[in-house]
Amino acid sequence: MEILAVDHPLVAHKLTTLRDLSTDSPTFRRLADELVTLLAYEATRDVRVTSVTVETPVRPAEGVRLSRPAPLVVPILRAGLGMLDGMTRLLPTAEVGFLGMVRNEGTLQAETYATRLPEDLSGRQCYVLDPMLATGGTLAAAIGLLFDRGARDVTAITLLAAPEGLAVVERAFPPTAPIKVVTAAIDERLDENGYIVPGLGDAGDRLYGTT
Ligand code: URA
Repeated sequence: MEILAVDHPLVAHKLTTLRDLSTDSPTFRRLADELVTLLAYEATRDVRVTSVTVETPVRPAEGVRLSRPAPLVVPILRAGLGMLDGMTRLLPTAEVGFLGMVRNEGTLQAETYATRLPEDLSGRQCYVLDPMLATGGTLAAAIGLLFDRGARDVTAITLLAAPEGLAVVERAFPPTAPIKVVTAAIDERLDENGYIVPGLGDAGDRLYGTT
């Protein structure tokens, strides 16, 4: 598994404001959106392209277009939805699937309550959006589901990751599994409730309120 913590001053600046307790929901949503676009730029470095020739007003020019099948973007509900616009801004031709997963706060295990994905993901590059890679259970379950349907490689984009969660995802798959995690930062640890420390609190609540 490849792990990339994006080292860029704009990423660090936006992440710092996201962490700040005094940042209100509208600002949090806007910054999360901007941050995802920056992360997506790094995350799509290996997106598959096909060579094409176009006619410029001057002469033919060699270039590339995104290959088919189109990449699939999969936000994990609820908090992953806050990352969708930032991702599709960069990849407007991507298709979008949805996974509804919730962490059982007692067992800290991921439970799937909704799946809206193509049955056959053969050859697809998939981009999973989940702001907080905490215990890793949700992300490991989501990646497993995508591989079961034939996904070719899976990149997870997260705002923050905990070392414990990264280790869980890494252990869930063979070392050569085509998995990449792109994050704005790897934090210190998880607390006893499975929250990332120092983290930014409950990403879903900060995006959408407490309902
Ligand atoms: N989910 C969150 O929203 N925040 C955490 O710190 C951990 C899981």
